[in-house]
Amino acid sequence: SSIFAAVEMAPRDPILGLNEAFNADTRTTKVNLGVGVYFTDEGKIPLLGAVKAAEKARLEAAPARGYQPIEGLAAYNNAVATLLFGKDSALITNNQTLTIEALGGTGALKVGADYLKRLLPNATVYISDPSWENHRALFESAGFPVSNYAYYDAATRGVNFEGMLADLRTMPAQSIVVLHACCHNPTGADITADQWKQVVTAIKERNLIAFLDMAYQGFADGIKEDAVALDLFAASGLQFLVSSSFSKSFSLYGERVGALTIVAASKDEASRVLSQVKRVVRTNYSNPPTHGGAVVAAVLSSPELRQQWEDELAGMRVRIREMRSAIVEKLAARGVKQDFSFVLKQRGMFSYTGLTAEQVERMKTEFGVYAVSTGRICVAALNTKNIDYVADAIAAVLK
Ligand code: PLP
Repeated sequence: SSIFAAVEMAPRDPILGLNEAFNADTRTTKVNLGVGVYFTDEGKIPLLGAVKAAEKARLEAAPARGYQPIEGLAAYNNAVATLLFGKDSALITNNQTLTIEALGGTGALKVGADYLKRLLPNATVYISDPSWENHRALFESAGFPVSNYAYYDAATRGVNFEGMLADLRTMPAQSIVVLHACCHNPTGADITADQWKQVVTAIKERNLIAFLDMAYQGFADGIKEDAVALDLFAASGLQFLVSSSFSKSFSLYGERVGALTIVAASKDEASRVLSQVKRVVRTNYSNPPTHGGAVVAAVLSSPELRQQWEDELAGMRVRIREMRSAIVEKLAARGVKQDFSFVLKQRGMFSYTGLTAEQVERMKTEFGVYAVSTGRICVAALNTKNIDYVADAIAAVLK
């Protein structure tokens, strides 16, 4: 008989499963607020002008498609480190950082996780409660036990910071703590700069290892502003890891553009760590693809394209904010009694709305408005054409 005869069907990915249901829905009024993707006011995934220009130049130059180095394009890796730490960063001038090009933020997390497993085979990984739905599975697949630390406070729709600190203070030394650098997914609730300081102190005191996940730099307040956690970690003297994703900020989802950056104590340490990280890459996919990284490097290293990109990113950020204000207003206008002003405080693409799984189900069946069963909606999927309909749906299920 077949070697696959007894293979069981794996559970469907909850969010991708939602997309399949959405695609099968024949109602023309349907709205998909489930996926974590930025859409324009026309409901389209944008191709940024800066990206288009860099791609055109690259196409015209018609570069050969040789293999990249294992760690990817040096110009890209340098640009990523500068984006994270700023151009005057002492970490960079001291060569204490190493960056490798990775396959999206997911790829960066996985290479980092595989490397950490070799370095600290007995560590436990802690993720926020709740967290991006792939964090747990990804670190478990790297062989780590994964636990939660307190994060979201449903009562305030904010962060249970006391709980978070208390959990950090009881973790065993050399535990790995995955932190959302900004724009927490799924809740949209971030901690303040002052609270980040306390987190850095707790991590230092307990001898923990921070793994910062930066998937939405520029979506809250700006590129530099959203790197406040990185600035504090950089100044702390600690060693830590950062995964970067440009899926959202460059709207390059399918090109899989990300990076893993590791901060070591010295230049010598960084080069030894890089040599080990390269072994992880070599045995997984050998070296990254050329196109996406080359485009991002070209945008970041040209003053004109960089400015254009920053303007386009600001445009996305502002449009999301407008949608946040509009949905709050429109719910109030429909006589919804609950206070939705927390939506204005949440940052990034998502909002934990507080809608129950039952209410989310009703929005889907009665209105064709799709959200995640946890009540997470992607605010970046709202637009001036669908927002009234969405407000109607939310108001109806809250009555
Ligand atoms: N980390 C977080 C917090 C995310 O929200 C996402 C994407 O949704 C990722 C990582 C993965 O990014 P990428 O799509 O670049 O792999």
